[in-house]
Amino acid sequence: MTLEIVTIPCLADNYAFLLRDRATGKVALVDAPESYPIQKTLRDKGWHLDMVLLTHHHNDHIDGLPVLVEEYHPQVIGAKADANRLPPLDLALNEGDTVSVGESMGHIIDVSGHTIGHIAFHFPSASAVFTADSLMALGCGRLFEGTPEMMWASLSKLAALPSDTIVYSGHEYTASNAKFALTVEPQNAALQTRIADITAKRAKGIPTVPSSLAAELATNPFLRAHLPAMKTAVGMEGAPNNEVFAAIRKQKDIF
Ligand code: ZN
Ligand code: FE
Repeated sequence: MTLEIVTIPCLADNYAFLLRDRATGKVALVDAPESYPIQKTLRDKGWHLDMVLLTHHHNDHIDGLPVLVEEYHPQVIGAKADANRLPPLDLALNEGDTVSVGESMGHIIDVSGHTIGHIAFHFPSASAVFTADSLMALGCGRLFEGTPEMMWASLSKLAALPSDTIVYSGHEYTASNAKFALTVEPQNAALQTRIADITAKRAKGIPTVPSSLAAELATNPFLRAHLPAMKTAVGMEGAPNNEVFAAIRKQKDIF
């Protein structure tokens, strides 16, 4: 592992992540829901904050930034496509661009759908992807701005990453996502096993984020819309993948 990654619970149910490149000691933050828990973690670890990687413009991912900028003067990096709505960026990136945290290279993936201009950061050397409100543990973000086709395309890119990739998503929504997933695929044995694990973790107050992409592929209904078994489960045999995804997303919206 080229990166040491620390998960920081913020606000009621958000997560921020600190990434420290072991080779150089450079530290990056993914999203800034609020400043205090991040400042405290940096102080406890004795780390400086060199850069902030923003996934999208929603307040619960950026509100902590001004205080951190004031204290640490990090380089602020986000999507060029959303630069007009994000806080002032020092570096604006597109899909296919890369960002270096010391010697660890992150690849920018456009994962629009929840918002347009939402990006994910994939660090292959650390087998880590930071997905915020695109792919989430047992779920995906609500479609506030994008179309189902757009989100399905975004999720398909994430699904194509190596299956040992660890998914660092933005919220602790997993227990409620699990209830919905079970209504879609009640016979999915891997889902039943995962839900038992989630329930045990939440009872002890342990985060269910991050999760493995392999587990998401086996249990997350939103990554499974292309599978014949899923199409049968939702009564849409032979329908196009993005239409099946759209139907599952719509069911979740009213769940
Ligand atoms: Zn959001
Ligand atoms: Fe969010």
